[in-house]
Amino acid sequence: MEADTELKEHLAALEASGQQALTREERLKRQRSLDALGAPSFYATCAEHGVAPLKRSAARIFQLNIGLYCNQACSHCHVESSPRRTAEQASRDTVDRCLELLRADRAAPGGGTISALDITGGAPELNTNFRYLVEQAAPLGLEIIDRCNLTVLLEPGQEDLVDFLARHKVRVVASLPCYSEGNVDKQRGRGVFDRSIEGLKLLNAAGYGVEGSGLQLDLVYNPGGAFLAPSQSKLEAAYKSELGGAYGIGFNSLLALNNMPIKRFADFLTRQGAMKDYMGLLVNSFNAGAAEHLMCRDTLSVRWDGVLYDCDFNQQLDMAIEEGGGKASKQLTIWDVSSITDLASRPIRCDNHCFGCTAGSGSSCQGQ
Ligand code: SF4
Ligand code: SF4
Repeated sequence: MEADTELKEHLAALEASGQQALTREERLKRQRSLDALGAPSFYATCAEHGVAPLKRSAARIFQLNIGLYCNQACSHCHVESSPRRTAEQASRDTVDRCLELLRADRAAPGGGTISALDITGGAPELNTNFRYLVEQAAPLGLEIIDRCNLTVLLEPGQEDLVDFLARHKVRVVASLPCYSEGNVDKQRGRGVFDRSIEGLKLLNAAGYGVEGSGLQLDLVYNPGGAFLAPSQSKLEAAYKSELGGAYGIGFNSLLALNNMPIKRFADFLTRQGAMKDYMGLLVNSFNAGAAEHLMCRDTLSVRWDGVLYDCDFNQQLDMAIEEGGGKASKQLTIWDVSSITDLASRPIRCDNHCFGCTAGSGSSCQGQ
């Protein structure tokens, strides 16, 4: 109930101020917190620890955010998805251009640099071009990742989705922020835990997460509040014991992520009066080892309309990869580059939210 009210308030603010104004305001709140703490900038912190400059290397992961429509509206969603986000959806043109770039990369000497196509959203499976993309990409021999919210497997019209994913050997990376019903429903909505368990059972029945099947099922944890993700390996053991014991569910690996101080989680921090403390926690937990392995170094993030970013977080803050400087700067899109390797060695666009990726054991779409 509380989450419903918060979402309604957020959507009302979005309508009143517009996305860009809210993003600017949110950035200022993070910056005020850092200023109050006397904390240096993210760049300065990286430089102090000998991990600057931050530059892109050859892209290994091509991550397409295929659209923001989702059958859920979780309280910590960093992309602010919901059933109302119907406009922001990748078209067939966008998907075809992504496929062209992937094919060109595979045809490059040495087989190119991209090893994985990571499809995210929203609920990516609900985009009308999702299955086309998977079918066309499958012959390229890339690892194909579906970032699945589990409840989508029970949506009307998706009865054959598990079979489709299994047939194309798609790796399923599924969100389940806790093994307790109360915590999951608080963060993701009433009844989501039960439906997620049902979805996991469907995946297990198709061979996902079952040893020797070749069908990979990973789960994603994120904290239920303003604290860092604990050790991934310890948490994985607890998840395996709890989900296996209570529901007979198996999976391969657990990926533990920090909550980034952006979008709905930033709203949550502001409402709790906890932004300064959380930013302080992130800054004080800076881990230079994690900074060496930031996902933005080898991930290319593509928005539903083809604009290019260093990561999905920058995408939500509209910090695109740009060409030119100052007023003449232009956001690059998939139609502006002839090859994915064109983007290697460009500087990464970092800002105060980036402390979320370097805190504690580090955090990325691939876990710690
Ligand atoms: S399921 Fe994922 S994309 Fe959908 S609202 Fe929740 S966090 Fe956002
Ligand atoms: S938020 Fe993005 S750009 Fe910043 S450190 Fe994390 S992955 Fe890199």
